Amino acid sequence: MTTTLPAYDEVVARYEPVIGLETHVELGTNTKMFCGCPTDFGGEPNTRVCPVCLGLPGSLPVANKAAIEATIRIGLALNCSIATWCRFARKNYFYPDMPKNFQISQYDEPLCVDGYLDVEVNGETVRIGIERVHLEEDTGKTLHVGGATGRIHGATESLVDYNRAGIPLVEIVTKPIPGTGALAPEVARAYVTELRDVLRSLGVSDVRMEEGSLRCDVNTSLNLPGQEWGTRTETKNVNSLRSVERAVRSEMLRQAAVLGAGGRITQETRHFHEDTGDTTPGRSKETATDYRYFPEPDLVPLAPDPAWVQELKAALPELPRLHRRRLQQAWGLSDADMQSVLNAGAVELIEATVAAGATPAAARKWWLGELSRRANETGVELADIGATPTQVAELQGLVDAGKLNDKLARTVLEGVVAGEGSPTEIMTNRKLEVVSDTGALTAAVDEAIAANPAIADKVRSGKVAAAGALVGAVMKTTQGQADAQTVRALILERLTP
Ligand SMILES: [Zn+2]
Repeated sequence: MTTTLPAYDEVVARYEPVIGLETHVELGTNTKMFCGCPTDFGGEPNTRVCPVCLGLPGSLPVANKAAIEATIRIGLALNCSIATWCRFARKNYFYPDMPKNFQISQYDEPLCVDGYLDVEVNGETVRIGIERVHLEEDTGKTLHVGGATGRIHGATESLVDYNRAGIPLVEIVTKPIPGTGALAPEVARAYVTELRDVLRSLGVSDVRMEEGSLRCDVNTSLNLPGQEWGTRTETKNVNSLRSVERAVRSEMLRQAAVLGAGGRITQETRHFHEDTGDTTPGRSKETATDYRYFPEPDLVPLAPDPAWVQELKAALPELPRLHRRRLQQAWGLSDADMQSVLNAGAVELIEATVAAGATPAAARKWWLGELSRRANETGVELADIGATPTQVAELQGLVDAGKLNDKLARTVLEGVVAGEGSPTEIMTNRKLEVVSDTGALTAAVDEAIAANPAIADKVRSGKVAAAGALVGAVMKTTQGQADAQTVRALILERLTP
């Protein structure tokens, strides 16, 4: 069915969106959830497997304590209550990437419940309720080969890699989030961003969306004001922050078009497409009864000692929101300036650059200026631009020492981004250092004076401002490498009594 999509403004004028987010986080433990297999990303397929994570008969799981500890810390950081007793559950479903034909998860007895996370959107705080945080194991990965799309349709064969099967996975589920109106897409993005930062500050995961260690499913529904919430769809595996926002917006537009034409929304999972920004239907959504959950008989219940939980709570790091406030004060930034640092994803980069010796103003200048511009042009995240905070601090150090001027520093930075080495190496190898040695500059100064007699006469007659044109001429012949102050002094020395 092809429908013309309504304008976003019309959609939010007519309907109220309710969103919800389910986020899966692969924990950065050394070993898998129920066996001793290593967890690092990217090995040869099916080399990090054993009888337990392959589900071979007779093998028995043993829970990973580090994963339980990480999950409790996540729950505490999200202001949840921690269960004093809970169990793992079997979630039964048949899928080739699930070697046991069930997943060990948690069902009605999650480890952490009823918390919240405050996020900031347009300078306002929105409190997102957290329904539960539970622990489960990841599935393997299926690869469909031979088709054009990489999906099972049209594929000639499917391959399965079980290296990921059994990696500890934490699922964080929000309560439904009503009342955000037109801001729903931004709220969704702000929540995932804040959650990612919290998880990173806890050090429990590398939270890389592009490698799948943080994955997000986005629930969206629309209702008319004053009426019951609408039927929701679940958009699966949205794998970038930008896509979280786009997926909500696109689903709101699609649902409004269906409802506006008198249709009904089907409860289903949908796939988000990065290229078009659309969603298409996946399978119709299973309900909990389809999974025939029951308590996992091969594992003992979890009963975290409250004293241990208290210890973990007391040892939580400063959480990102407080941390950002402290940085904002230390850097002397207005709310708006801090917001642009946040929007650029530059907080940690600037912080690390300052730690490496640059002033906050200089660090901010490079990351929000030249480097952000390049990141936007090339469509990569600022953190992946190819320059490190240490290199940026080193570059600024060369500027402060008078070895590079602004223009030369930008050229050196291009070299850094291109992987040519450290700023000092690039400056030396490409002979970019500012020339302030008077001996080396004298010839260029004399040449400029000889080539511009009229201007030289003006300076001689006392119009010192005219010297600027001669400085410009010298900068040109030295390709910007002359130290402008020295050049100016040399010119005046020659032309004024
Ligand atoms: Zn294993």
